[in-house]
Amino acid sequence: MKEIRILYLYPDMLELYGDYGNLQVLKYRMEKRDIQVIIDRYSIGDPKPDFLSYDLIFAGGGADNEQSILAKDLLQYEEEIKEAVRQKVFFLLICGAYQLFGKYYKGVEGNIIPGLAIFDYYTEASTDRTKRCIGNIVIEVNIGEKQTKVIGFENHGGQTHGITTPFGKVLFGNGNQFKDTQEGFFLPHVIATYLHGPLLAKNPEIADYVISTCLTRKYEEKMDLLKLDDELEEKCRKQLLVRFIPVEKQ
Ligand code: GLN
Repeated sequence: MKEIRILYLYPDMLELYGDYGNLQVLKYRMEKRDIQVIIDRYSIGDPKPDFLSYDLIFAGGGADNEQSILAKDLLQYEEEIKEAVRQKVFFLLICGAYQLFGKYYKGVEGNIIPGLAIFDYYTEASTDRTKRCIGNIVIEVNIGEKQTKVIGFENHGGQTHGITTPFGKVLFGNGNQFKDTQEGFFLPHVIATYLHGPLLAKNPEIADYVISTCLTRKYEEKMDLLKLDDELEEKCRKQLLVRFIPVEKQ
């Protein structure tokens, strides 16, 4: 039986707007394909995880306060996490976690939260506390040789700069900065995005991309995933898309 091992970082501090749902979706879609899923959790005070023993590392969003508390803990694993990225362990990072993998996050008060600096983008919060990128968002992504629309929800004050390989092009909503054209950061084995929602429940194609990328790396062969019945997900997506984007522009 094939097996995928997932590490969930700081589940008690980084979990907003159903971020954990992403792991539930991955687990459901893998178990339907007879793939065993192991989800381990790590948070402050737990023994050091063996990052390289995982196929996927996941972390969700969190408020500035949580980010500043856990940044110190996270930074002690800088080398191990860098190595995992180098060895192409899959990273799925939402919002607050996305920001912490960059150089730094500068909060509303000007306080700097150092990031892992694994990628060279950086994030600075809008100095006006009342101004945040909040609401539904739709982006267009090219993933796994396909183009698809990804639907989510964003809520961040942070404005991310220095992205050269975005996750997607904004069709509706804000993105990396207010009224931006770009959203997130992407490498074939890294999806770092502001999209909560949870991302993978609303976008099963992205979930399957994550699964097949993890399997291909682990088992060193390209595998076709059994097609699942996504009729309900597709109906839901259609409804959401007509709400956000005029039909003629879809
Ligand atoms: N604290 C960050 C911001 O407001 C991240 C928020 C989040 O993870 N939703 O930019």
